[in-house]
Amino acid sequence: METPPIRYATRDKDGNLESPFPVDPAELTRSTRESVCQVKDGVHYRKYTRFYAVGVYGGIATAYSVGCNFRCVFCWVDWSRDWPERYGEFYSPSDVYTKLRDIMKVQGLRRARVSGAEPTLCPDHLCAILDLAHQDASDFDLFVIETNGVVIATESGLAERLAQFASRDSSDGTVGHVRLSIRGALPEAFEEKTGCSAEFMDLPFVAAERLWDAGASFHVAVVVDPRFTSEAEKAETYSRLSAIDPSIRKRVEEEFLDPYPHALVRLRAVGREDVTGTEPSSKERSAASSMPAD
Ligand code: SF4
Repeated sequence: METPPIRYATRDKDGNLESPFPVDPAELTRSTRESVCQVKDGVHYRKYTRFYAVGVYGGIATAYSVGCNFRCVFCWVDWSRDWPERYGEFYSPSDVYTKLRDIMKVQGLRRARVSGAEPTLCPDHLCAILDLAHQDASDFDLFVIETNGVVIATESGLAERLAQFASRDSSDGTVGHVRLSIRGALPEAFEEKTGCSAEFMDLPFVAAERLWDAGASFHVAVVVDPRFTSEAEKAETYSRLSAIDPSIRKRVEEEFLDPYPHALVRLRAVGREDVTGTEPSSKERSAASSMPAD
């Protein structure tokens, strides 16, 4: 029998996660790749929904990729995260690079990033973009790679490949920098936040260790919003990061979450009315009504 696609987490009236949750992020990696990564004539294509500039990082050109291997309940990404087969178009690395350069030129920017859902799902595609950027490295002062760390932790060699473009040693002339998100450090809370089984909780920490050992330039973003992370979990996260190296803990970016429309729909589906409120806002209703029918 065919396995049903994994969309977003829901809980029944007794508060229990409904099948197929909690999920295995390695399985999500595999199934999402089928929808968002493609190789044609030796060129690695990946799906994106849009390209634009935003004010974060002091102004940055952004390529918004499709598909993720986590199912965070507070995720702000649109339905392309849950229905990757229905959203986005395939772009080659040079298509993506050209779009980012055009935005940088028009907006007068020196920064770019691959963002959206999980940019490392198609590693060869991502590294090809980074390679193109490093052929013009003097035009950049930063190229950000955002990730939840699952692929870095589960596939050997990716941390080292990324470090070639994002080195901690400034004399290497690289412009890349990895922003690694760590969602949880206590099993039950990790499962509640990410929709993934608690047994996979260590993966983002393994990624941090691998990036550190590979000499990569990176920092860790930790959700410290008290609605999702207790003081005990925050302390555990910081202790684990310090054990890898105290400087990683010192450079943590603390995240507080905005209730974006798609996040509100996902949070309501797991019974988080303490965050959503009892009545959906018009933005939440609009996000809910744009959800694809399975
Ligand atoms: S890792 Fe990021 S993109 Fe993926 S589900 Fe979590 S919040 Fe969304």
